[in-house]
Amino acid sequence: MTIHIDDSKPFPQFLQEPDNKRESFASMSKREAAGLKLISDEMEQEKKELEKLRELRAKRFERKKKLLYNNLDLILRHRDEILATPRYANIDAHYAIKGGGLYIGPLSTSRRLSFAGTSLDINLKLGSLLEVWDTDQFKMECKCGGTAVICSFTGSPLSGSSQATAYCPKCNEESRIGNRSFGDYYGLMEIKLDEYIESVAKEMVAKWTLAEAEYAKKVAEGKSSQWSRPGSKFHGDSEYCDLETMINELKLKEFEEKANEGY
Ligand SMILES: [Zn+2]
Repeated sequence: MTIHIDDSKPFPQFLQEPDNKRESFASMSKREAAGLKLISDEMEQEKKELEKLRELRAKRFERKKKLLYNNLDLILRHRDEILATPRYANIDAHYAIKGGGLYIGPLSTSRRLSFAGTSLDINLKLGSLLEVWDTDQFKMECKCGGTAVICSFTGSPLSGSSQATAYCPKCNEESRIGNRSFGDYYGLMEIKLDEYIESVAKEMVAKWTLAEAEYAKKVAEGKSSQWSRPGSKFHGDSEYCDLETMINELKLKEFEEKANEGY
């Protein structure tokens, strides 16, 4: 059997307007008589609470951004260690860099994907950010002789021109830099997020393959019951760490190293 899809006609406009409820006067009267609202109080409450959460999240990311830049010198001193330690390299750092361009809008450093109704936020990681900052495009020599890193950029994909702000961890000054390719800023950032998405997808497939193999082993050993499924063998990474913990661990480590030098 062949299914023919007629896409010669555009979809009706109302499909793109989920908020646009077309209701006749008669059905409105009936609905109101039944005490039903198009937007219920519970829906309003949910919307209000989500808005509060969104505000709190924005404040939290602003605080984390300050913390990251205030400790940038410490973080860069431990660059290699962070890259070699998954629980450090995988810390969310999507809030640390801002970019965007005319016509194409803001750079996305976070992507929300939904799988069977379960959403997964995939964010730019600290390890990816450190790799980006190590490229010539994302660093510059500061007036003080230190190396500043790009923390925001704007520009135009048509002219290719850009304006960027760089932060120097040595003198804590911000400086502006122009005349670098906008496409190279934007493209490199996109590639880093795409690379990370690939590694998340591959990791999930690998973990699921492992879960199926472990379950098959259990079945072969006669240890399965009617209540067991391969899903019980599916586990994610347990090595979670946040920026605050990493910074504290690195500070303690440097303190101990200094203390040991004294002896
Ligand atoms: Zn400087």
